[in-house]
Amino acid sequence: MLQEFGAKLKALFGIRTFDEKFFSELEDFLIEGDLGPSMASYISNEVHLRAKSEKPKSQEDLQKLVKSILMDKIETYTPEFDASQPTIWLILGVNGVGKTTSIAKLARYYVRQGHQVLLCAADTFRAAAIDQLDIHAQRLGVRIVKQSNGSDPGSVVYDAITSAKTKGEDLVLVDTAGRMHNKENLVRELAKIDKIIKGRGLDAVHYKKFLVIDSTTGQNGVSQAELFNAAVPLDALILTKYDSLSKGGALLQIGEKLHVPIAFVGTGEGYEDLHPFNKEEFLNTLVGLGDK
Ligand code: GDP
Repeated sequence: MLQEFGAKLKALFGIRTFDEKFFSELEDFLIEGDLGPSMASYISNEVHLRAKSEKPKSQEDLQKLVKSILMDKIETYTPEFDASQPTIWLILGVNGVGKTTSIAKLARYYVRQGHQVLLCAADTFRAAAIDQLDIHAQRLGVRIVKQSNGSDPGSVVYDAITSAKTKGEDLVLVDTAGRMHNKENLVRELAKIDKIIKGRGLDAVHYKKFLVIDSTTGQNGVSQAELFNAAVPLDALILTKYDSLSKGGALLQIGEKLHVPIAFVGTGEGYEDLHPFNKEEFLNTLVGLGDK
């Protein structure tokens, strides 16, 4: 758990003098926590520099120092809506990260907030994906736009936008393919959907792209974010399996490298297990400060 990482960092700060050994231990520890060598070295150097001027007196001072260094490495994304036309959210992510479950959770979350939600089954490459989304739509009592397995995803998205405009849904959640024969195909397919949405006159306010990442995958999550961000520039991340997150470093790396903020975290398998990302709480846990 992330709490254990924080507790270990705190323990590390309980030790002796700030000698070479201390800083190399700190750097190793941060690399183990998935922060990557360059960020680990940056943080260790910053702690070194700032400890000289700020003279931290306690473990807690040091924890707060690290927190302040990390503060601008990660951002929160708060969705905003404009009711003049439907908002389309493209939900991206490789298979198995929890994309379908997240779409269902988002539908529940926004229905509760008074939105009219429409699901769009644009992962037409897997019959199971369409069926699964259909089951969620029935359970949640929301409409779904789908076509048969193998049909053109762009055409499903086109239909969904038309349908939402006609029937009055204000939020369309689009499920997309998570895997194709190769990366190039996936990127090309996503770019086609992107073009169709833009072609329907949806501006940046009404069209957002979210990448779902399994928060426990570490470095792999960073590569996935890079791949998808190159295909369609991402607006925000949704982190699943946050309930089993043990190392938070990869999230900081994504924030640092791609500047993609985090919107939601998934904390379990149920429809209710979705929460807005809380940066303050995340950083406190990461550095072992508890929920102060
Ligand atoms: P997809 O292939 O990306 O659409 O993945 P699914 O939505 O089918 O989810 C894959 C598995 O991860 C399922 O067993 C989900 O119940 C599980 N899952 C999804 N989100 C979370 C989460 O936030 N926490 C936990 N513990 N499990 C999750």
